[in-house]
Amino acid sequence: MPTTHNVIIIGSGPAGYTAGLYSARAMMEPLMFAGYMSGGQLMLTSDIENFPGYPEGIGGPEMMMELRSQAERFGLNVIDKNVEKVDLSSRPFGVWVEGVEYRSESLIVCTGAEAIWLGVKGEDAQKGRGISTCATCDGAFFKDEEVVVVGGGDSAMEEATFLTRFASKVTIIHRRDVFRASKVMLDRAKNNPKIEIMTHRQVKEWLGDEKGLKGAIIQDPRDGSQEQIACTGAFIAIGHKPITGFLDGQIETDSEGYILHVENTMTSVPGVFAAGDVVDTRYRQAITAAGMGCQAAIDSERWLESQH
Ligand code: NAP
Repeated sequence: MPTTHNVIIIGSGPAGYTAGLYSARAMMEPLMFAGYMSGGQLMLTSDIENFPGYPEGIGGPEMMMELRSQAERFGLNVIDKNVEKVDLSSRPFGVWVEGVEYRSESLIVCTGAEAIWLGVKGEDAQKGRGISTCATCDGAFFKDEEVVVVGGGDSAMEEATFLTRFASKVTIIHRRDVFRASKVMLDRAKNNPKIEIMTHRQVKEWLGDEKGLKGAIIQDPRDGSQEQIACTGAFIAIGHKPITGFLDGQIETDSEGYILHVENTMTSVPGVFAAGDVVDTRYRQAITAAGMGCQAAIDSERWLESQH
């Protein structure tokens, strides 16, 4: 039989590392499966300006390294591998990683969320040839080129503003004329001379060939009229979906797959806790994820104590 751990943390964004820090300081000897791409979405973020304690801002990857090393200093054991499946039918819970079985009395799920694609014609063919969901990763490929950003939230504004470092022109394509983006980020984009915002437009099809993206057919949803625009890069920033596939329906979620809390941060399975973007449909901030990771660690510790 494999060793039984007190707590296994699955996922390694701000929620996971904070849960790891608190669990480690509480002498729970936590084990974390951080994923092959450890650090979560903030590894793809250029500047974080709204996490308290960094008056000059900090790069996403840099902050994740700091959170990780802080938790490791207190004994968090981090393995940079993905969890393939779990068995929550009895305790200790089963966790499988590259075919190896681990057991734990409690789990904290902090797997976050991943980018949603538009799913329109031509998208699959042009992924990696000009269409991306990460300006920080791919923006530099588009020096002096014309690119589009799809979406009307903070992500779209952030990506568009970042892309002006490289691109000659950035066009934001948004399906309405009301924006979910915060005023400060919308104004920053609006005031940038390299950015044009097209409202009431939806991408119907991406145009290109094996050499790369050439443009898009966009439609006005009010009257169905279509036009063609030229671009060699496109960044989709229309939101994220929670990463819960490995749970195989063993925890209650909402209709979109976000894990539901039943009591504080505990899920529908007693002993399984969840924190961060995999739960959060409302705030989705690094600081709120970190706070929830702290809550989940405290809840799991108290719950384990109550079981003795
Ligand atoms: P979001 O706020 O949910 O915005 C998604 C945008 O995509 C909306 O404008 C939405 O349009 C549009 N959209 C959704 N599905 C679409 C489709 N199929 N076709 C075309 N457009 C579509 O998502 P987000 O911008 O990723 O932000 C998520 C959270 O992260 C927010 O809480 C945000 O504040 C936070 N965030 C913060 C920062 C920061 O503070 N630095 C940076 C990035 C994100 P509709 O409005 O018409 O639905």
